[in-house]
Amino acid sequence: MNGATPERTCCACKRKGPQASFLRVKRTPAGNLTLDAKAQGRSAYCCDDPDCKSALLDKDRLSRAFKARVDEDARLGLAQELECRQR
Ligand SMILES: [Zn+2]
Repeated sequence: MNGATPERTCCACKRKGPQASFLRVKRTPAGNLTLDAKAQGRSAYCCDDPDCKSALLDKDRLSRAFKARVDEDARLGLAQELECRQR
């Protein structure tokens, strides 16, 4: 134990914390957003917190997090995946 837990920043509220406490969202090369850990692509992190998850679904915020345009279909796909996890 040397305190080397990787820290991540929530792209909604900018809080920092250990990677394990965040949801990881991936943007695939095709431009889809997914929570699938095995997907290829750039990752962004978000607290597993209802406020952050709804803030995350803002299109401008997603575009900033991934430094790429996020289209409406991709945004809705992510919203659906987040909803499925909520149970
Ligand atoms: Zn957050």
